[in-house]
Amino acid sequence: MRSRLAPSPTGALHLGNARTFLLNWLLVRSAGGALPLRIEDLDGPRVKPGAAAEALEDLRWLGLDFDGEPLLQSTRAPAHAAALHRLEAAGLLYPCVCTRAEIERAASAPQEGDGTAPYPGTCRGRFASAEEARAASGREPAWRFRVDPDREVAFEDGFRGPVRDRPARTCGDFVVAKRDGGAAYQLAVVVDDAFQGVDTVVRGDDLLPSTALQILLCGALGLPVPRHVHLPLVRGPDGRRLAKRHGDTRIARFREAGVPAERVVGLLAAWSGLGNGGEASAPDLLRRGFDLRAVPRGDVVLAAGAEERLLGGLRG
Ligand code: GLU
Repeated sequence: MRSRLAPSPTGALHLGNARTFLLNWLLVRSAGGALPLRIEDLDGPRVKPGAAAEALEDLRWLGLDFDGEPLLQSTRAPAHAAALHRLEAAGLLYPCVCTRAEIERAASAPQEGDGTAPYPGTCRGRFASAEEARAASGREPAWRFRVDPDREVAFEDGFRGPVRDRPARTCGDFVVAKRDGGAAYQLAVVVDDAFQGVDTVVRGDDLLPSTALQILLCGALGLPVPRHVHLPLVRGPDGRRLAKRHGDTRIARFREAGVPAERVVGLLAAWSGLGNGGEASAPDLLRRGFDLRAVPRGDVVLAAGAEERLLGGLRG
């Protein structure tokens, strides 16, 4: 087994993504597998200086090691460009000059419950080339991947079981290269997972809608499709995905306050049906006999004040 840790240096590691990393690590290390690390630093404007170094320090502190040197995704531009050329040469891409506001106006009312509508296909077949798109709109085009309207993608998720998705209905033609020419997340992740020899992708449920798109890209590029394992998220007491609004749950905060790492790991373990009722623990202790099936199916809810309790004992 070969998985990867793929932190984005757009924000700090917090109790939510640390729990996903812990489970990823346990799955790999209990199977004697390999775990390279990739810093997903492609989202230029949102990358926070120092966040990558801090994520590495947080992982080390928690006791989550990885194999080899970290791969910076921003160094992979030539490989991303080569993949884009291949897709373009195969007639699978088209230039798109739509702005977000235009897409929202053109889309019909979002379907009940899903909150987003698929790209309505405004630029599909509209321009013969990027030059034409530029000349007609005065904008630099992004590139979209054509999604076959009838294509259903099915895969066996290592945690959720069988998943079926029809990307044309959920997302539509999607962006693989941004206006600045750089690869979008969907493309970069597929190209870099193949480069790093990743055969198992472990990540949060929030990325589940991306998986069918990534499977389509693997097919188009002739890359092997990894096994996917999507884990439930940690949510705040209001049911929303854990974020700043729920208080400061950054790993660095506990580290800097002198909380023992074992206490933080104990909480992450308790959320995952592991360890001993939240008692202090370490990844290495949880590794023996680790079984993904012991992990509760539902989302984890951060109890109000849980992070204060982690700090609590130190304040007397
Ligand atoms: N970098 C992404 C994140 O931190 C993970 C991407 C992936 O696992 O495919 O959310």
